[in-house]
Amino acid sequence: MSFDVIVVGEGIAGLAAARDCARAGLRTGTVEQMMFGGLVTSINELIDWPGEGGEACSGSDLATQWITEAADAGVESLGGCATGIEADSAGVLLHTDAGSHRARCVIVASGASRRPLGVAGEDAYVDRGLSHCADCDGPLVKGADVVVVGGGDSALQEAAVLAHYARTVHVVHRGTTFRARPAVQAVFDQAFAGREGALSIRWQSTVTAIEGEDGIEAVQVTGPGGTARLQARAVYPCVGLVPNSGWTGLPVDAAGAILVDDRLATSMPGVHAIGAVRAGYGGRLVDAIADAAIAARFVKESLEC
Ligand SMILES: Cc1cc2nc3c(=O)[nH]c(=O)nc-3n(C[C@H](O)[C@H](O)[C@H](O)COP(=O)(O)OP(=O)(O)OC[C@H]3O[C@@H](n4cnc5c(N)ncnc54)[C@H](O)[C@@H]3O)c2cc1C
Repeated sequence: MSFDVIVVGEGIAGLAAARDCARAGLRTGTVEQMMFGGLVTSINELIDWPGEGGEACSGSDLATQWITEAADAGVESLGGCATGIEADSAGVLLHTDAGSHRARCVIVASGASRRPLGVAGEDAYVDRGLSHCADCDGPLVKGADVVVVGGGDSALQEAAVLAHYARTVHVVHRGTTFRARPAVQAVFDQAFAGREGALSIRWQSTVTAIEGEDGIEAVQVTGPGGTARLQARAVYPCVGLVPNSGWTGLPVDAAGAILVDDRLATSMPGVHAIGAVRAGYGGRLVDAIADAAIAARFVKESLEC
């Protein structure tokens, strides 16, 4: 069975691209290795996203809305984890762990994964205090101390959520200033406003060890004053994302993001890359959707030639 376009990844970029391609009359399929939605599914209140009537919107609501729109437009969800891609005279062959699919074009929207802290033994604490979703398990740390690692948008967003539950949120950041967008910084400031002792910021510091027998009990933080041991029941690493580009074999930049031109085309004929997997991605949902619209337009144009 041959498709006009196959989109790899059912995150917001992939769902938007698939919907736009299907609405343009192209036979469109998607492959997704896990569940639709990608990174947004762990976020209860999206920032910089114009929810309906200005209302706050959750990531999972948004993802549900977009997968519904994609399905209504005729997108076929094929499932599977993409493992390789090759171009030949007939188009593009996409390999997955559930078989291979042929398409005239492929849009790579495989997004990014959370970067680990790089602390010894970190993996042993996954789901035992090491979390990537403050919205999911915030209630479990009610009254406890927690550590958020990072100084960008997602760190401040997670810390703001935890402000509602934790006794003290320790933010451990290797820099000397935060680098969150103003809208995110405002949410963070508001969450801790007037709450003496609820926030402790460790500048120029890194987490050097996590301790605990049946889950996290303490965290070692190393900074200008030496190493301190903080009591903590949970750690939220927000130290960046790693593009899910390795399976493609396509040329990438120093961060591992796929190199694209102005049309978001990669170096492989018929293959575009959009969203968090591509070099130069803007980082917000509106950027993911703009990428999707650009790629869908150029794919449509190239198939009409
Ligand atoms: C904690 C956090 C909070 C954020 N909050 C906001 C916010 O409030 N507002 C905002 O505008 N932006 C926010 N962002 C950014 C936004 O979530 C991302 O920019 C956007 O979700 C990226 O979408 P994507 O579709 O490119 O990638 P992803 O969401 O990563 O989706 C990629 C999809 O591809 C799938 N996939 C990966 N590899 C394969 C493969 N080999 N085969 C098949 N499928 C594969 C994955 O399972 C995933 O479903 C936040 C990000 C984080 C981490």
